[in-house]
Amino acid sequence: MKILVVEDEPKAAGYIRQGLAESGYAVEVQHTGTDGLHAAANGDHDLVILDVMLPGIDGFAVLSALRTSRQVPVLMLTARGATDDKVRGFDLGADDYLVKPFQFPELLARVRALLKRGQAGSPKEPFVRVADLEIDPVRHRATRAGQRIDLTAKEFALLTLLAQRAGEVLSRTQIASLVWDIHFDSDTNVVEVAIRRLRAKIDDPFEVKLIHTVRGVGYVLELRG
Ligand code: CA
Repeated sequence: MKILVVEDEPKAAGYIRQGLAESGYAVEVQHTGTDGLHAAANGDHDLVILDVMLPGIDGFAVLSALRTSRQVPVLMLTARGATDDKVRGFDLGADDYLVKPFQFPELLARVRALLKRGQAGSPKEPFVRVADLEIDPVRHRATRAGQRIDLTAKEFALLTLLAQRAGEVLSRTQIASLVWDIHFDSDTNVVEVAIRRLRAKIDDPFEVKLIHTVRGVGYVLELRG
């Protein structure tokens, strides 16, 4: 498994490279957006770890350009507090996010999950499909049974997260962290409110419900027979 790391900070790049290499991955590191894009677009990496803050062209521009040529899974590294980064990255077709600073085991867990997902559904499509729900992260469009559903940026980010991890129960804390960059258990009420709004658009008009509450744990998006 080959992983491309695009990170300008030598210390962070070295830390990621070493950790991944020790876990058995072949790692290539690029330090600028331009070099990173060139390597990603022309390489055969199984995953790209892409920092948002890069000199020259930033991570968003790299992702945007890359998505016109290759559908390699992309894990973006965003700065703490930059909530809009996640929405923007999702819209551009990022597959997952990790907020800096992070613990290496967390990065490794995301890397493994993305590589597993990539293998299961190869060749990887930019679309996310669960039953009759379709999400196009690049065009920022969601449809159910062919009907266009209007969503706010946050609702779209939330739906994309749930759909990309379909069948996986996500806790309120996980969702709050990934979509809102909130890291306190006490603030997860925002998740409940958003889920309610999302259900009103995604599930209420349709007979088959996709978003399910797992009592005491969180939420899962899946088709239940
Ligand atoms: Ca950086």
